[in-house]
Amino acid sequence: MPGLRLEGKNAIVTGAAGGIGLETTILFLREGASVVMADISEPALEKAVAKAKEAAPEMVGKIKTAKCDVSKEDNIKALVDSVDEWGGVDIMFNNAGIMHADDADAVDTPEKIWDMTQNINVKGVWFGSKHAVLSLRKHNKKKGSIINTASVVALVGAATPQLAYTASKGAVLAMTRELAIVHAREGFRFNALCPAPLNTPLLQDWLGDDQAKRHRREVHFPTGRFGEAIEQAQAVLFLASDEASFVNGSDFVVDGGMTKAYVTPE
Ligand code: NAD
Repeated sequence: MPGLRLEGKNAIVTGAAGGIGLETTILFLREGASVVMADISEPALEKAVAKAKEAAPEMVGKIKTAKCDVSKEDNIKALVDSVDEWGGVDIMFNNAGIMHADDADAVDTPEKIWDMTQNINVKGVWFGSKHAVLSLRKHNKKKGSIINTASVVALVGAATPQLAYTASKGAVLAMTRELAIVHAREGFRFNALCPAPLNTPLLQDWLGDDQAKRHRREVHFPTGRFGEAIEQAQAVLFLASDEASFVNGSDFVVDGGMTKAYVTPE
């Protein structure tokens, strides 16, 4: 019988209380990893860790939670250092991100929303990548996998503008690509996940019951539906595992074909 896909690996997931983060945590646990679930919201983390334990009762690794604001370097350093007791990080999923309700177009986006979005979505990924590299080196690891969550809006333009968010995800994509090249000979792989719009609170709370707003987006999916968080998590699991040993610097698009579509089926 083949072994578990992440057996013996230590992983950090940021934004672990949210849609993609929680589903990824569960898959990582089921595949034998030990996981630190990090999030800015402690109450959300409490609920999420209970769900993760329930969904992965057979877990062989360890699990712990950490309150962390990814936009603060001391928070990220403490988070990564907390994995020293397990032998250092092998997998870093820099996934926390925000899409602010006041984010709009070039004219209407407030500067403070712009700055907040870049601080969390871009600086947070930089800090996570930086401290993952430092930990991998400190523990003399010959391989590591860092996955950074970007978005399809880093690849295609949307006439439903959220300029600060879009700019932040473009930065994540470019930064991840460069990190992949810089660290390739150390055995550290960097890949960017590009999800299409999903059925997670980040988007769905914002869409609410507004059917017109919903349709405006759904019509662009060849499949006619939004993606599910678990479908992103399966991709992250692959990128985290040694099965992806030659996958580096990729814009890993999980979008049901959305970014390849011109006219979609009726
Ligand atoms: P979500 O809102 O369900 O989860 C995001 C989590 O990040 C939340 O638990 C939140 O508390 C946490 N968070 C927010 N700010 C933080 C901070 N400063 N420090 C630490 N944690 C913080 O969203 P999701 O859909 O699971 O999104 C995860 C990632 O996927 C984000 O980077 C998002 O931009 C990206 N993404 C989402 C979609 C979508 O449609 N849902 C599409 C493309 C990309």
